[in-house]
Amino acid sequence: MECIFCRIVNQEMDATKIYENDKAISFLDIAPLSNGHSLVIPKYHANNLFDLPQDYWMAMYTALTATTKAIEKVLGFTDFNFMNNHGKNAGQVVFHYHMHIIPREQNDGLNTIHDRHKITLSKETITKMQKTALLFKHT
Ligand code: AMP
Ligand code: ZN
Repeated sequence: MECIFCRIVNQEMDATKIYENDKAISFLDIAPLSNGHSLVIPKYHANNLFDLPQDYWMAMYTALTATTKAIEKVLGFTDFNFMNNHGKNAGQVVFHYHMHIIPREQNDGLNTIHDRHKITLSKETITKMQKTALLFKHT
């Protein structure tokens, strides 16, 4: 099997597991950004969120909250980034849907999204998005 996360699900590859239910599993990231950095994955091969059946998403939610609470309790963190890289240009490397749990603390050397320059939205973008919002209203 090609996919490394499917191999973890199928117990063909080791991982430091934290939480498991019938449809999702969490384990420590092999190259952590901070202490306790973990991943939550569904036991279903989907490239991304849109390919994931809803019941797996629900199980992911349970695994995500249980894992975060475990990290809080055991490692003492209270702050986290929950992150999903969706697509190559967003930095996705493993194409088996997963959420990162990145524990954060003061002066940990990692950025937040507020540490970068902001852009100004064009009128065209705002208009396009407003039209989309209207479309949703009528469906
Ligand atoms: P991304 O697709 O951008 O979310 O990145 C994939 C993440 O999976 C990276 O943070 C890797 O360190 C992590 N990763 C890759 N292989 C393994 C593995 N065998 N066990 C645990 N984490 C892994
Ligand atoms: Zn997979």
